[in-house]
Amino acid sequence: MNQASRTPVAACNWKMNLSRDAARKLVDAVRNLDYQLQGVEIVLAPPYVLLPLAADWISGSGIRLAAQNMHWEEKGAFTGEVSPLMLREAGCSHVILGHSERRHVFGESDEQVGRKVRSALAHELVPILCVGEKLGEREAGETTRVVERQLAAGLAGVGGAETGGLVVAYEPVWAIGTGRNASGQDAQEVHRFIRAWLAKAHGADVADRVRILYGGSVTPANIAELISQKDVDGTLVGGASLKADTIIPIIKSSMKR
Ligand code: PEP
Repeated sequence: MNQASRTPVAACNWKMNLSRDAARKLVDAVRNLDYQLQGVEIVLAPPYVLLPLAADWISGSGIRLAAQNMHWEEKGAFTGEVSPLMLREAGCSHVILGHSERRHVFGESDEQVGRKVRSALAHELVPILCVGEKLGEREAGETTRVVERQLAAGLAGVGGAETGGLVVAYEPVWAIGTGRNASGQDAQEVHRFIRAWLAKAHGADVADRVRILYGGSVTPANIAELISQKDVDGTLVGGASLKADTIIPIIKSSMKR
């Protein structure tokens, strides 16, 4: 399998944004795209409370629904948490795990991210496993060491055919919400490293199938350069996913590669 056989993904992380009305308008605008024929997988990740509504709004389309986080347990005394069973019931097919804001604002550990990934797979949710270095780590030449550590912990105990369905998002922390994206070449270098790591740890077939997304200040102006890289199979978009004017050109450019 090569780049052309991996369906590109445009994943939209709304974070803690958008009212119900604004979300509805945005979903309608995205639905109106004739994207299915052109082969891009659109994944929307609204806040938890909008998930069941969004599931209705996208029904009958090929758009997929993701949560932005989850707990690894199915139920119990975990105030404020949401379980994989609940996400399935709400209509999710995907879940973003290990986002840098979860790791660095809320203190999620590599080991916790790994538990979540294993639980997501066990509940037939596609994990979008986020990895990426902080600015100081990049400047210290530690990018691949950090990414390797996060991959190893995030995928500990994961194996078999299910691994190929996984999505990895490389999101350098210094590029998230800063307006400073990685260059196509910088992104490609890390994506190539991730694919090589996957090949070593999980076999060439898995490495060929896993979609590796880039995230960090993706905009209509830089999507073409990023998506044209050999190992960039799509994007995880934050700020630019909140407006039809910016996300639609990004989705359209994702189709053109
Ligand atoms: C993100 O939150 O995953 C992200 C990449 O945000 P932004 O596009 O705003 O940098």
